Order: sequence, then C-alpha cells, then structure tokens
Amino acid sequence: CGIVGYVGRTSGRADAGHGALDVVLEGLRRLEYRGYDSAGVAVVADGEIFSRKKSGKLSNLLAELEARPLPASLTGIGHTRWATHGGPTDQNAHPHLSDGGKLAVIHNGIIENFAELKQELLAKGVVFESETDTEVAAALLGDIFRNKLNGDVSDGGLTTAMQLACQRLEGAFTLLAVHADQPDVVVAARRNSPLVVGLGEGENFLGSDVSGFIDYTRRAVELGQDQIVTITADTVEITDFYGAPAEGKEYHVDWDP
Ligand code: GLU
Repeated sequence: CGIVGYVGRTSGRADAGHGALDVVLEGLRRLEYRGYDSAGVAVVADGEIFSRKKSGKLSNLLAELEARPLPASLTGIGHTRWATHGGPTDQNAHPHLSDGGKLAVIHNGIIENFAELKQELLAKGVVFESETDTEVAAALLGDIFRNKLNGDVSDGGLTTAMQLACQRLEGAFTLLAVHADQPDVVVAARRNSPLVVGLGEGENFLGSDVSGFIDYTRRAVELGQDQIVTITADTVEITDFYGAPAEGKEYHVDWDP
C-alpha cells in the first residue's frame, strides 16, 4: 500500500542514530493516510539484511523495533500493507526475504500469475513462509539473482535480476528490493502502480507517492510504465524491463504537507 526506500551517504542522519530507519519510518508515517493493516522495514548493515515487521498499526512496529533494535544503516526500505493475498498477519507482512535471507522485497499491488510461478519455484525446492503473492516475486528475484546470475554483483546484478524477474511478472506492482551483497543500492520496478524518485544531495529516495519523502526533498522524478530504477546515494539510473536506458523527467513538488 505505502512504500518508501532510501540510500544515504552525507545526510548526517547516520550519526543521528539510525539513518535509513529514521527516514523510512518518517515516510511510512506520512503514508499512513492511505490505510494499511501491517507495516515492516528492512535495512542493510554489515553485509546482512535486518528486517522487522508487524501486523496492525505503525506503533506495533515501533514497539518491535524498540524491543529488537536494528543496527545503524544508510540503506533501507519500508512498507505499509493492505492485504490482498493472505490475511493481515506478522508472517504475511512485508518485507519478504529470499536468497537465504540476503534479499528483501516489498510490494504494492497484485502479482496476477503468482500461482503458476509459485508452482515452478516449489518444484525447485523453494520454501515459502507466507501466503502472499509478494513472497513469490521475492523468491523469483532471489532465484534469478543466485542461480541465473550466480549472485554476480559486479555488473549491477540486482538490477539485471529485477529486469529478468519483471519480464515474468504479470499484474500490478511497485517492487523495491535490497540485497546484502549490494549494500549501497535500492532497486525498484513499476507496472500499473505508482513509483516516484526523490532526489537529494548525497542521498536519494523512493516513494509510492511524494509524501514518502516530502520532509527531505522537493525534487522528484516520476517513473513511467514498465520501468526499473536503481538508486545509490549519488546516482539514479532508469531502464525498461529489458535493460534499455530510459529518461526520467524531473519536477518540483510544491505542496506543503
Ligand atoms: N498483494 C500484496 C499482499 O497482499 C501487497 C498488498 C499491498 O499493496 O499492500 O501482500
């Protein structure tokens, strides 16, 4: 339902305590107006993914984060869920992990062909922990990254894996992914579901709408249909689902939250 992504470097927020986590939680708070039944976050730190997720209000997630704090990080994603496939439980909340816990994915929308993809992945021995269509997308992305690309991060592996995965996904989706082996990157994709990039100085943002990052920047780029974007603290690269470079059009957000 609501999606936020962040990669930072020079924002100074890392030494303020949590870096990515603060930014992502602030974004989720701004997106609460959309309604949701669960919330979750993931950050990349020390070559690992750390994720917390809870059904119910954001305050439940905040309590969980208080009880089990996350390490400081400059790369993170956050999600508020409006359940379509699988009830509003902790287990079905996003992020969903794959590639042995090294990949975290959040998703807005519906993967229409999730059932057939799930059969294919089950036949390969993939184990699922939720009833969501989203976990199928996470597993597909992880499977492509690990088995098809041999987990090769040298050449933007996660971006390539996202392109290949999106070629197989049908329906409506905004997907965000982070991988432990590419700690400075968030990769996102969209089809029939909105995704906006927020441009910062030494930091970049992603949101299902601009309210996800309105506290930090007014410079935005709206992604077009069937596009993929890879953000680092200093770069924003857009392609189509087949890797062809695409242009984003920057605009200024001029409303006050
Ligand atoms: N279809 C996904 C689910 O049920 C995502 C729902 C959403 O957009 O929040 O988990």
